[in-house]
Amino acid sequence: MTNYTDNTYSKLFEKQKLQQLKIGRTTYKERIKKLKALRVALEKTYKQDLRDALYKDFKKPQLEVDLTEIYTVVDEIKFACKHLRSWLSNQKVDTPISLLGSSSWIKYESKGVCLIISPWNFPVNLTFGPLVSAIAAGNTVIIKPSEMTPHTSKVMSKIVSDLFNENEVALIEGEVEVSQELLKLPFNHIFFTGSPQVGKIVMKAASEHLTSVTLELGGKSPVIIDDTTSLDKAVKKIIFGKFMNAGQTCIAPDYVFINDSIKSDFVTCFKKHLKDFYSENPSHSDSFGRIVNQKHFERLNGYLEDATTRNADIAIGGNSEAKQNYIEPTVVFDAPEDSKLMQNEIFGPILPVKTYTSISEVLDDINSKEKPLALYIFSSNKKRVNEIINNTRAGTTCINHNLLQFLNHNLPFGGSNNSGIGKSHGYFGFLEFTNQRSVLKQHTIGAVDLLTPPYTNFKQKLVDLTIKWF
Ligand code: NAD
Repeated sequence: MTNYTDNTYSKLFEKQKLQQLKIGRTTYKERIKKLKALRVALEKTYKQDLRDALYKDFKKPQLEVDLTEIYTVVDEIKFACKHLRSWLSNQKVDTPISLLGSSSWIKYESKGVCLIISPWNFPVNLTFGPLVSAIAAGNTVIIKPSEMTPHTSKVMSKIVSDLFNENEVALIEGEVEVSQELLKLPFNHIFFTGSPQVGKIVMKAASEHLTSVTLELGGKSPVIIDDTTSLDKAVKKIIFGKFMNAGQTCIAPDYVFINDSIKSDFVTCFKKHLKDFYSENPSHSDSFGRIVNQKHFERLNGYLEDATTRNADIAIGGNSEAKQNYIEPTVVFDAPEDSKLMQNEIFGPILPVKTYTSISEVLDDINSKEKPLALYIFSSNKKRVNEIINNTRAGTTCINHNLLQFLNHNLPFGGSNNSGIGKSHGYFGFLEFTNQRSVLKQHTIGAVDLLTPPYTNFKQKLVDLTIKWF
């Protein structure tokens, strides 16, 4: 493991800058070799270390580590290895008749020295996932993981220094100040995953150097349940999506809309499945995680207190235990629109439920807020689903389930405006770290060569003809 101090960041950056063209010239086979080494580190060498570290950081259940931290990155690696040859091939494009005598293609070249800043909620997935795309695209990378999951950052740092020379990939642990220092450097691309608030800071810093950015942000992701769907199945899936990682998932359902008439059935169903998943007392369940730290524990309890003092009704749960940073799966009705619970991304195991009488009410409500990262629809009515999709905007949508849209690497993943800029995963992640260089080669004399000055009447006629016919 390498220990970096403040003044070494720019030296490290310069070292990577010197390497960037060399790394950018590597073949698809050389890049696949690096990706496969990362796969072995995740699946074999460091698997148990990662499980242990994530348990120490916030009691993440082993199955969730395997599925949402390790498998997702391994799958991203497999996908990139399968397609990298074709992604890197020059792409020929058509030549318009006015450019006869030439041919054109797109060359996918690396951007150069890239910075990845990642959050704590899926620290392995959201650090190494983008790293896969960056390596596939032939970049050098500096990584700054979150300070809130220090055990996991330590293992990731070991993996990086085991597999890579720091001139190519380096991981710097540390507090927010480390990110702030790194953001002063003229990176060629910054891939940031985190909150919209910090996303704005990153974009501002990037603008100093006109650095391109991918911002994978968050926000409030609504769920709509209509009266044509099986309530039982919908509730079961929502509990899975909401309480995995104790609700600390960027695409977890943030709040739910249900029809006014099914309120009591919803609560009955919810209680039944909660008990099936996590037993009568979820604090004793090995399948339910903890809030990452005291600061976030207090934030969430503050949201709950703010809502309840203003007449919100806790229909399920509501208990917490400070010593363990434990918050019970909680369902809240009637949280006022201007309460903290309804104004902020919740990012924890509290689910506000809103009731509606018509879908247009729901659409107006969603459209009055920032575009969500995810919008979920539970409905068997195709027309209704289309109506919702066509009359809202969101980064991603999953119909009749939740979270699963993240797992298909053929789909771009990301938000829109406040929930994000740019996309990740598969080919779309590769493109974020790639400059699409346009190349035109002139083979023989072309039509444009006939139009050089002096601009005679004959040449003007040629231009007129071109505009009219070509
Ligand atoms: P955060 O924005 O607080 O921190 C993210 C990273 O930015 C961390 O590495 C942190 O050290 C750094 N950082 C924090 N403050 C900074 C500052 N002032 N200047 C420079 N860097 C700074 O986010 P978080 O709490 O780690 O994660 C939760 C947020 O991330 C939620 O909003 C969630 O929705 C979002 N998120 C989005 C995705 C996605 O894929 N779209 C995935 C996971 C999390």
